[in-house]
Amino acid sequence: MTARVSLQLPPARLEAYSWQEAGHCRGMDSEKFFTDDRDQTQKRRVSRTRDAKELCSGCPVIRECLEHALAVPENYGIWGGTTAAERQRLLLRPAAATGTAA
Ligand code: SF4
Repeated sequence: MTARVSLQLPPARLEAYSWQEAGHCRGMDSEKFFTDDRDQTQKRRVSRTRDAKELCSGCPVIRECLEHALAVPENYGIWGGTTAAERQRLLLRPAAATGTAA
């Protein structure tokens, strides 16, 4: 018996991403939020991570952003005011997906 494979792509879910329109990072260089690059110094990574988190802290869609990052999951970058490592820890906690950033 051969399994039938569907090649049809899922429908667009643009409405699920409409929260991004209100993000403080809208239109900014995404490089500011991807601070995991090992080619930069530790001091520079820490500084960039702090700056990105500061911007996120006042963002009106921080919760939606974090929920998205946990659901995907996004394994790189700052999302919802958290680093990838922080999200990893949240995902390992029971009932993590509905929690808030520590
Ligand atoms: S929480 Fe941060 S990464 Fe998410 S949309 Fe807002 S500013 Fe952008």
